[in-house]
Amino acid sequence: MSRAVVAAMVAYTLELREAGMKLNQNESPFDVPADFKRALFDRVAERPWNRYPDFESTPLREALAREYGLAPENILTGNGSNELLAAAIGTFVGPGTEVIVPRPTFTLYEKLVTVAGGTVIPLELDPRSGILPVPKATPNSVIILCSPNNPTGGVLASLEPLLETGAIVLYDRAYGDFAFDSLPPLNDRLVVFSTFSKAWGLAGLRVGWLATTATTAREIRKVKLPYSLNIVSETAAVLALERRDVRDRFVTLVASERERMAAMMRQIESIEVFPSQANFIAFRTRASRPIFEALCARGILIRDISSYPGLTNCLRVSVGSPAENDAFLAALEEIA
Ligand code: PMP
Repeated sequence: MSRAVVAAMVAYTLELREAGMKLNQNESPFDVPADFKRALFDRVAERPWNRYPDFESTPLREALAREYGLAPENILTGNGSNELLAAAIGTFVGPGTEVIVPRPTFTLYEKLVTVAGGTVIPLELDPRSGILPVPKATPNSVIILCSPNNPTGGVLASLEPLLETGAIVLYDRAYGDFAFDSLPPLNDRLVVFSTFSKAWGLAGLRVGWLATTATTAREIRKVKLPYSLNIVSETAAVLALERRDVRDRFVTLVASERERMAAMMRQIESIEVFPSQANFIAFRTRASRPIFEALCARGILIRDISSYPGLTNCLRVSVGSPAENDAFLAALEEIA
């Protein structure tokens, strides 16, 4: 009963297991502080719950504009950056549009492009290089990529060559804070996606945002659902921007833990560690499934990425708290 392209798809999913240490979804291992939560409850209690939220999350767009040196017209907010990726793909991709997508990467891009009727042109990448390749593209193409790339961790050396192709570039910097990147200069053919789910530790509240020119934002807004950001989530994101110290401490810790983990993992002979600038590390093993299962048996849940193209026998671990990382490293050393 569904369209043929949908009938042929599988739903976005991930392997859920009970585990004391959850290192499988690239979340922050640290919840926001209790006083942050109390301040959020107080602010939300003061707002009318019987009324729809601001149509375009204006208070949050204004706060983001101040933080990133933009105008509110450059910004759209959404229920996670996933929603905005869908809106942007709906804006730029139609039947037959050529869409260049790295392989392997975040699986949602290909799904959304397929639903929109676009044609995916894979850009093969080498997870060992740490640098994402630059595709050949024309002004009729759309390029979608994330830097750092999920699940391999590599980054774009520069955005310039992509912009020079004249293609529409949908640039997902979900993990950009961990690479200490910055928001690039905007133009009509560049849309940059960010999220509060990773570095800001608010995955449960679902807040994402995009930045582009006012002209392009106007087009994407036609496709995006109205009111998608509820008042709790919007208020939390505004509060987070006032409490940047929470993010900054976490990002600094993650970056140093990532380097510590990678260095220790490189000591294990049977493992090949891929360079990562994100809050996770992908690595190749001799046999991924037994390692995944043995870690699970020790209460450590990581991500089995071995079915991604080009990632046979590969696993991905999110950087956790220092104690979780110690437990993971000790268990991996023993198992692998
Ligand atoms: N982009 C990438 C590359 C991701 O890995 C994820 C989360 N797994 C997202 C976007 C989703 O972000 P959000 O929670 O803001 O929808």
